[in-house]
Amino acid sequence: MTEFSAKLNSQALNKYTCLINGLKCDASSGETIELICPGTGLPYATIPRCSASDVGKAVSSARTALVSKEWATLSAGQRGERLLRLAELISQNRDHLAELEARDTGKPLSQGYDDIDAAIQYFRFYGGAADKVTGETLPVAVDYLAMTVREPHGVVASIVPWNYPMQIFARVAGAALAMGNTLVVKPSEEACVSVIETASLAVEAGFPAGTLNILTGLGEEAGAALSHNPEVDFITFTGSPDVGVMIQSAAARNHIGCTLELGGKSPQIVFEDADLSKALPVIQDCILKNGGQTCSAGSRVLVHQSRWEETVDTLRSSFRRTVSGQYKDNLDMGPLINASQLRRVNAFCEQAETDGIPLIGEGTIAPDAPTEGYYTTAKVYGPVPVDHSLALDEVFGPVLSLIPFRTEDEAVRIANGTPYGLVAGLWTKDIARATRVAKAIRSGQVFVNTYGAGGGVELPFGGVGKSGHGREKGFEALKEFSVLKTIVVSHA
Ligand code: NAD
Repeated sequence: MTEFSAKLNSQALNKYTCLINGLKCDASSGETIELICPGTGLPYATIPRCSASDVGKAVSSARTALVSKEWATLSAGQRGERLLRLAELISQNRDHLAELEARDTGKPLSQGYDDIDAAIQYFRFYGGAADKVTGETLPVAVDYLAMTVREPHGVVASIVPWNYPMQIFARVAGAALAMGNTLVVKPSEEACVSVIETASLAVEAGFPAGTLNILTGLGEEAGAALSHNPEVDFITFTGSPDVGVMIQSAAARNHIGCTLELGGKSPQIVFEDADLSKALPVIQDCILKNGGQTCSAGSRVLVHQSRWEETVDTLRSSFRRTVSGQYKDNLDMGPLINASQLRRVNAFCEQAETDGIPLIGEGTIAPDAPTEGYYTTAKVYGPVPVDHSLALDEVFGPVLSLIPFRTEDEAVRIANGTPYGLVAGLWTKDIARATRVAKAIRSGQVFVNTYGAGGGVELPFGGVGKSGHGREKGFEALKEFSVLKTIVVSHA
């Protein structure tokens, strides 16, 4: 046990606060929500349960900050410097934040570190990019000078899920603040403490009061109030498709734009010439990471029939070797986030077994994993019929579905056969086929002989269809978090 986890375990309930207008505060009602540790099933911290009136305060503090001398007069480069300073402060607190993230979400500590490192990278990337955003000049007619400039939306509301609190917060905050917006962030009531602590570091990094506000609470209370607030100029939401629909209608009522990053049922296609020794470890890792609670998890593996037996045999033995356990033991997987997520994942598996879908391989749970924690095993099923819920619906758990195919056309048809379209992986040595299929697949990202590219801070990310719309990450996010204005000057 590290010194920090010993300290955490020795305390009763850590009390976390919001950050509004640069000040730490409780909900105006004084009400709190208990955070449950997924590894033990026990409460370990409280966060404020904010209401619509707290949302109002946070949004008006962001609006005041937007036009304040401290923020509005900073150059893009000065905003970038503050982001770089924040990256440095996160880096100095890396061990502490990684442990917080792992304990809060249940993911193995090494993945907690990966998430903090990704957050550092986001703030570095957007710190460096802030003063590289340019407009264009447009050759309209001889007596005019026409140009485009990018301006901030204004107050951006960000609603963050529990699976990658720190990464998703950092990718939004980095890009939105780089462009000169101010922010009100509502992280998830299931896991959010890394975000709360990082907000305090932002104050230390020199972000003026009100530029970054953190407001905790329930989705249907604080989240709904934030998405309906008429003083918000743009919403970015990452979470479930159902809530995405609510966010989009709230944005429509206020005539503002929104970015929706929703779920996925991402296919990985293993063609007959795939290098299985390279493909299968990556495929397994992608579904085990964060216990499969990853929107871009490659949860459907389409396998050419000529490689079926080999794939099944390899995954059977490698899945059997996987172990789930406590975050600090750094095993293959931690627990799922909560009891309802565990029930949901188990229900998918029970249905598959009732429907006679073969369970190819299954991992184990470490004997010392607390029985009240939300642990489950990694499972691989196949062949899964293409119309079964395991092949169509997002399980959001460590469950891999194998689907056989015979031809390239059939593989593309199956890959495009769900309402989602977030990421796809192609495993083949044939560059012409890889290019053809990459063009035919309906999704926001396609990887060839790799998957995810280590998070890819630089790579535009987002979906089509039920996976959402808009792009985050990379330079594209700077466009998403800004408005293009055309200015035309007559000099006749
Ligand atoms: P969720 O939609 O229940 O919650 C996400 C956030 O929305 C939380 O902060 C929650 O408090 C808030 N929320 C809930 N109800 C709300 C409402 N009525 N109004 C406003 N806000 C509300 O999703 P979740 O359970 O936290 O996350 C799991 C889902 O998110 C999965 O479907 C997953 O695929 C998706 N996800 C997508 C991405 C992506 O980048 N595409 C990333 C992570 C998670």
